[in-house]
Amino acid sequence: MTLRHIAYLWVTVGFLTAMPSYGQDIVIKHVTLLDGTGSAPFVDVWVATEGDRIQAIGTGAAPSGKVEINGSGKFLIPGLIDAHVHVGGGRLRVAEGTDAEARHTAVVSSLHGYLYSGVTTVFDSGNLADFIFPLRQQERDNEIQSPRIYATGGVVTSLGGYGSGPGATVIGGENDLVVLDQHLDHQPDMVKILLDPQGRRGTPEAPIFTQDLLTKVVQRIHARGIRTTVHIPTEAEARLAIESGIDALAHLPARSDMSDEFVGYATARGIPMATTLAVFSNIARVADNPEMFDAPLYQATLTTADRVKRKTTERQRYMSSGMSSFFSGMLPAMQRNLYSLYQGGAILALGTDRSVGPATHQELRLLVDSGLPEADVIRIATLNAAAYLGLDSDLGSIEVGKLADMVLLSADPLEDIDNAQLISAVVKGGKVIDRQALQLPVNQ
Ligand SMILES: [Zn+2]
Repeated sequence: MTLRHIAYLWVTVGFLTAMPSYGQDIVIKHVTLLDGTGSAPFVDVWVATEGDRIQAIGTGAAPSGKVEINGSGKFLIPGLIDAHVHVGGGRLRVAEGTDAEARHTAVVSSLHGYLYSGVTTVFDSGNLADFIFPLRQQERDNEIQSPRIYATGGVVTSLGGYGSGPGATVIGGENDLVVLDQHLDHQPDMVKILLDPQGRRGTPEAPIFTQDLLTKVVQRIHARGIRTTVHIPTEAEARLAIESGIDALAHLPARSDMSDEFVGYATARGIPMATTLAVFSNIARVADNPEMFDAPLYQATLTTADRVKRKTTERQRYMSSGMSSFFSGMLPAMQRNLYSLYQGGAILALGTDRSVGPATHQELRLLVDSGLPEADVIRIATLNAAAYLGLDSDLGSIEVGKLADMVLLSADPLEDIDNAQLISAVVKGGKVIDRQALQLPVNQ
């Protein structure tokens, strides 16, 4: 036996004997893995975690773990990521007559509802800074049960522009750029900029940044190493934003059909775009179909009072303000644009512009109903959404070395995307979430 043989033997034996004693925390065995990268399913594999990361993935004899889960007949996907939410409870802090208890309930049902629904990461795309940043810190300090929270805090907009109300950073000209620094001191994970001359009703009403000023705003944010995203209504504003150096779009151009030329332009620049069909679809469809808020996942995670409010006063407000019919008219163009972008190879990222976990599943459904294959929709809801946040080296897929955020499903989501609602376990950061201990109506 040569020295080389001995070395080889030692490595082999070392590998084999070391396997069961790595000290894995969780081992999921005999599972079908949909790893989030869009590759074909891996059948009958095991996935092992150590600490908060994926430690190994293999076939055949599995290592032992502190927690062993039989994944036979089940499907493992990465934790879902909603790249455009507004965590519930934030706005209630300023609403008159809202007591602390109601706020707390709204926050808890929002955060616990996401976890219950298999959403392990959210990007809060606009909220009160003094609400969302402390909440983000509590999540990072492990003080609350919550999906990972990434947040923009207040939005950035032009003087007199859309969204220039309380909490916004308003910039009228180059001399105002310094006010950005105060906002950046909160260390937003991404900065959200508004660029919408039409506002909520689609009528021209508000001044927007010039390309020159927007470029300077983006450069000042980039100088701190922070990414940017932008709210835009049409292809024209989207192009202006991309030319100014913006990193992502918080919505698809929605208010009219997009040109093929724009699809090529945006795709070539690799700009991730949040899909946000759910906000438009919900507000449009609530007029005719208020019962959508009685779907099982809504019943499980929202109080009866909350669902009644959505079906009555909120519905009335959307109908009488004209938003329901306005969004209803926009939705078909939005779905066509989504499909063109998909076909053109754009980086689509799941986002809902809503505040609750069940909406994330509505978005999955809407993406499939727009013509996208289930396998790609899962990637859009995981790895692409991580890319939107610039976090795809750590999050969004089940690969060795990545954070162990995973959802075990009892039926195949490639067969029916609604099967993503049939959740048998949620793992966040290498810990199994006790779904029955979440403070939700389903557990009361
Ligand atoms: Zn939004």
